[in-house]
Parts: sequence; structure tokens; C-alpha cells
Amino acid sequence: MHDGCNGQMTDGLQVLQKVRMMGFNKNKLPVVHKFECEACQTEVEMATIEHQCSCGMVYAVTPCGAMETSKIKAAGKYV
Ligand SMILES: [Zn+2]
Repeated sequence: MHDGCNGQMTDGLQVLQKVRMMGFNKNKLPVVHKFECEACQTEVEMATIEHQCSCGMVYAVTPCGAMETSKIKAAGKYV
């Protein structure tokens, strides 16, 4: 089953491409994650699998990591 739970994806761009490929990127997360943007240091509120900060940094998380803020990866700016 390709739900993103298998394998260790540490690269944010890889995570983003995978969730886009699976069509999950617009899906709502079960919880809203709040964390500091690593690019602009403002607070990010992330409610969907794919989220773009106001500075352009795009974050993504696999659906099976959706409960854990630590699983959210930065994919790069305007990707
Ligand atoms: Zn930012």
C-alpha cells in the first residue's frame, strides 16, 4: 500500500512530490499544526497536507505522519 508510511522520506521535496502525485496535497489534516517557519521565523498554521507560508516556503507531510508536527518537511520556496 502506497500511503507514505513505508520508507523513510527525509527530503521535503520528495514528500511534496509524493503527496501531489497521490492527490492528497489539498486534503485537510486531522489537526492544525503550528510551528515556526524555518525560512522567515513567523508562526505557520498548517491545516492541509501541503501548505505554503506567506514567505513562499512550501511544507508537506505524508498522510500517515499527519498527526506529528515533526513529520512536516520543508520542500523549498515556490516549488
Ligand atoms: Zn515563512
